[in-house]
Amino acid sequence: MANQEDKFKKVVSHAKEYGYVFQSSEIYDGLSAVYDYAQNGVELKKNIRDYWWKAMVQMHDNIVGLDAAIFMHPTTWKASGHVDAFSDPLIDNKDSKKRYRADVLIEDYVGKLDAKIEKEVKKAAKRFGDSFDKAQFLETNPRVLGYKEKGDAILQRMGQSLEKEDLADVKALIEELGIGCPLSGSKNWTDVKQFNLMFGTKLGASADTAMDLYLRPETAQGIFVNFLNVQKSGRMKIPFGIAQTGKAFRNEIVARQFIFRMREFEQMEMQFFVRPGTQKEWYEQWKETRLKWHLSLGMGEDNYRFHDHDKLAHYADAAADIEFKFPFGFKELEGIHSRTDFDLKAHEEHSGKKLQYFDPEINERYIPYVVETSIGLDRMFLAVFSNSLQEEELENGTTRTVLKLPAVLAPTKAAILPLVKKDGLPEVAKKIVEDLKWDFNVAYDEKDAVGRRYRRQDAAGTPYCITVDHDTLNDDSVTIRHRDTMEQQRVKISELKALIKEEVDVKNWLMKM
Ligand code: ATP
Repeated sequence: MANQEDKFKKVVSHAKEYGYVFQSSEIYDGLSAVYDYAQNGVELKKNIRDYWWKAMVQMHDNIVGLDAAIFMHPTTWKASGHVDAFSDPLIDNKDSKKRYRADVLIEDYVGKLDAKIEKEVKKAAKRFGDSFDKAQFLETNPRVLGYKEKGDAILQRMGQSLEKEDLADVKALIEELGIGCPLSGSKNWTDVKQFNLMFGTKLGASADTAMDLYLRPETAQGIFVNFLNVQKSGRMKIPFGIAQTGKAFRNEIVARQFIFRMREFEQMEMQFFVRPGTQKEWYEQWKETRLKWHLSLGMGEDNYRFHDHDKLAHYADAAADIEFKFPFGFKELEGIHSRTDFDLKAHEEHSGKKLQYFDPEINERYIPYVVETSIGLDRMFLAVFSNSLQEEELENGTTRTVLKLPAVLAPTKAAILPLVKKDGLPEVAKKIVEDLKWDFNVAYDEKDAVGRRYRRQDAAGTPYCITVDHDTLNDDSVTIRHRDTMEQQRVKISELKALIKEEVDVKNWLMKM
């Protein structure tokens, strides 16, 4: 655990040191769970967004984009269920004055039982050596079975109580389990209350006429309310999709873990409208397509897993998360939801406008069903960034910090370095920069010894360093160094563009899907 925490701390400090992510309003001691993307972060974020957009919109004839406003008519959120049901159960500790999500306190308790099981497994593996059969041990060891049974029973009871809105029982469960405040240990709890996660604001200047609004907590509703406009103006035929990326806001009760859980974040969502009855097939297909998109980035198959939901949201008939192995364990990165006709139907009812499609193939009019893919851009950023940050032991006994970002996503594709700051080398290097910058984001760096500059670019995630030396003046060749292998290659200046393109071209990466 300490190791995981250390790794995570490194991720946060590296993101700051190399101009990726800063705490918002840091000079005023920051704003909790709000972050700013700096010079490199903004490029990485844009590249992830573009990679998604290319795969989801441009590569599909039947998916189009949208950019709906953050403010929406307040009835939208009544119809979508967010006013009544978009809340988390919160509990305060009366002594420490700290606020927690009641469900998370209980889940963490169960997590500790899981850790005990892990400990038993480790002990037994040591005792039995090569003959240890983990699967059999997990199925038969009485202590393990006891922990598992207890954990399952707790989660089941919590699930039922939350579903029935029996918040008194959620508190009773916390008390029965003897759960204390993680900070102070105090067991002096308030009652559990539901807390709506939407941020409210007002539209209009005068106090009497101002209208209460919400900042959107998801981008999806902007797509639903525009469904018919897009379908008609684009003459779209079902099945078709509408995709958008944009900010969403949630007043998360507990927002730790850096950009994993933020109060202002960005989503990339696609709603796919299908004929009723076909939603299961499309759901399966989108699960597979989205996983392939992730795998195309080459961040390791073992780092992803599906988590199928047993307990479904009020709008869904099937739902799964793609989980990623973050430095703090497997957590949700993307959700794929079969949302039925819940949203369009609700908007029909609340607006009084028909949101139906006439299907010429079957001569029928219906409200389409929807399969949604929804990924947090900031979470994807964290997945890519944390997975790429590595410490490597080198042959000479030193270590290097290297940010092995997939080259297609790297903020800067190449750094051009004159070996020395004289003899005409900077001029040649700058000329290369001028030429390459039409095609790629490149940087010029002449400060410090070249070895130091290599390390700086490694840590910033730049896939290539191009060094101009005295021979360049005679043979028009430069040394190109690869970030991951540290291999160096002598190439003609005229060959640089093609060589870099091969590595960073979106097409070459997406073709792996
Ligand atoms: P969680 O269970 O982690 O709160 P969720 O199930 O509420 O997430 P969705 O409503 O399905 O999330 O939103 C879709 C995606 O948006 C999530 O998979 C996640 O990547 C991202 N997301 C949701 N909440 C946040 C947040 N507070 N900060 C950053 N990203 C978020």
